[in-house]
Amino acid sequence: MIKETSIKELKGIGEKTEKLFAKIGISTVGDMIRYYPRGYDIYEEPVSISDVREGQVVTVNGMIFGRVQVSGNRSLQVTTMHVKDLTGTLKVIWFRMPYLRNTFQKGGAVTLRGKIVRKRNELVMEHPEVFYPPEQYDGKKNTLQPIYGLTAGLSNHAIMKAMHQALDGMDLTRERLPKELRMRYELAEYNYAVRGIHFPEDKAVFMHARKRLVFEEFLQFILAIRKLKDKNEKLENEYVIPVHPDIDAFIAKLPYKLTNAQKKVWKEIAADMAGEMTMSRLVQGDVGSGKTIVAVLALFNTALSGCQGAMMAPTEVLARQHYASICNMLETYDIPVKAVLLTGSMTAKEKRRAYDRIECGFAKIIIGTHALIQDAVNYDNLALVVTDEQHRFGVKQRESFAQKGGTPHVLVMSATPIPRTLAIILYGELDISVIDELPANRIPIKNCVVDTGYRQTAYQFMKKQIAEGRQCYVICPMVEESENMEAENVTDYSRMLQDEMGADVQVGCLHGKMKQVYKDEIMQQFAENQIQILVSTTVIEVGIDVPNATVMLIENAERFGLAQLHQLRGRVGRGAYQSYCIFMTGSDAKETKKRLDILNHSNDGFKIASEDLKLRGPGDLFGIRQSGLMDFKIGDIYQDAAILQMANEAADWILEEYPEWLKKIPDYERTSSVII
Ligand code: ADP
Ligand code: MG
Repeated sequence: MIKETSIKELKGIGEKTEKLFAKIGISTVGDMIRYYPRGYDIYEEPVSISDVREGQVVTVNGMIFGRVQVSGNRSLQVTTMHVKDLTGTLKVIWFRMPYLRNTFQKGGAVTLRGKIVRKRNELVMEHPEVFYPPEQYDGKKNTLQPIYGLTAGLSNHAIMKAMHQALDGMDLTRERLPKELRMRYELAEYNYAVRGIHFPEDKAVFMHARKRLVFEEFLQFILAIRKLKDKNEKLENEYVIPVHPDIDAFIAKLPYKLTNAQKKVWKEIAADMAGEMTMSRLVQGDVGSGKTIVAVLALFNTALSGCQGAMMAPTEVLARQHYASICNMLETYDIPVKAVLLTGSMTAKEKRRAYDRIECGFAKIIIGTHALIQDAVNYDNLALVVTDEQHRFGVKQRESFAQKGGTPHVLVMSATPIPRTLAIILYGELDISVIDELPANRIPIKNCVVDTGYRQTAYQFMKKQIAEGRQCYVICPMVEESENMEAENVTDYSRMLQDEMGADVQVGCLHGKMKQVYKDEIMQQFAENQIQILVSTTVIEVGIDVPNATVMLIENAERFGLAQLHQLRGRVGRGAYQSYCIFMTGSDAKETKKRLDILNHSNDGFKIASEDLKLRGPGDLFGIRQSGLMDFKIGDIYQDAAILQMANEAADWILEEYPEWLKKIPDYERTSSVII
């Protein structure tokens, strides 16, 4: 089968290139084909020079005006040209391409496509692609060029080339959905769809191709869940655990009163665990609604009954945070139970120690990452498994965690704001509890949407907050600069910010490529206020809780889905202080402002996501993924809610009428669940 063919079989891929592809998770031709573009570049109609704006990539038509000049020194030669149209003149520069001087003729017509940047207060087009004569542009106009996620040493062009080869060598008979199903839901054939997703001739082809792939992904997922549900439904409760008398005392001693919603959900969980059937429950609650304490109650109760309870978090940072706060509570409230941490980055020796403590039953509460579901871990009477931030995990992981030991109770926590109808599809095998109330002491976050001209003011504001003892987050979207993303670089940014802030303020930085020990160190320092500003990628989106942080500054906010921005915003406003969220945008497009403005007016995660979709419409190619929720490769549960419903209906139909088709549909596979 083509799936197992190594990419080395493709022309032009030697050992070196193979290694580069491995870095982005591609080792077989099948992996390659499923490496969908992150976005598309559209060669739009040219615009007038007077209409160009900072930060945009645009095409202009103009006449070469004056002489082309080369300046600078040997190490960096700069070629400068001016082009003119009826509305104005635009300066254009290239680096290290002095030979261009002889390419252009004064007075000649040219088409240029490039990014507009501001240099010494003048708008300049940097390093444009040249179409000379302008007719060369016609062939490209309105086409979509795929943009792939890159790694250093591997260009977009190289991926495109390999992709063409992979597609050409593809087995054309590989349709996986029954024809009847395709007709019924108007789904493209697989071959058409994969070609169309990588190299769409136009938007219509793209939309059609995408629909098919999203549908299939959802359908596989739903069928996997149905299988799970079948298995779960008749599970008798092996661990009947009533509420231990110490639990109420613990609740009474907490520094805050549980909200009514928290009380209600805790009651539901307690009833499940003491009931006839094994618990399979989802707790949904917006960021900051206080899900952790509810999970902690269930864990403590399990441990006090003499059984084990485990909690899995999607990132090391979050697992460690949970572990620290649980140990703290056990000590403060004098609860006679031991907890242990187990994460992938621990040394072999540390892990062995943890395994021992788990296996002999010394540790009753086990906190960790994926490491918790590895074979080496043997539990002793595992009665409860909790997964935090469930939407970050795949369905396979849901299952394998639940399979450790006998049939433990399952509790999953999610901040995903989704309406009930979707939750039932996505979490079909689970009962659903909702924490629909925020703790009463919360002061609403103040938001503002500003452009980069406001950056200095924002920094001054942060300085003032820090002088008052508070802390700040700054979010940059990407770690590495790649050809197609002009996003700020986290490391450079934090250095720059450190200079800006002076020696009294400590700036730290955090991103996914950092070694775990450094990440932990930085998080620890931030939690202890040794670091006042944390510059980070979206790593911190998941669950981090530092109530002293009051400012969240998000650079390039226009690049994020609103639902994600809402999650990020949830990192502040968690304590007793007034908090602020500053959305900074690199483009002054009206639509961007309008989109971000939704965040100003709402704190309801689901409402935010739906408004965003309404504004952008279904044809938004740059479909900034709303969420990356549930780790789907291409589908987005918000954007594609309608397809999700369709796939759900199809699943009903398949199970009812054609159960034998189930075998034809491959098992649901998730390639990677790397979060950060
Ligand atoms: P999330 O639901 O996003 O996981 P957390 O469980 O991390 O939220 O809770 C956010 C913060 O609110 C924590 O600092 C927690 O101690 C606090 N908290 C939880 N419940 C309450 C409550 N009932 N009253 C006040 N603060 C609470
Ligand atoms: Mg949480």
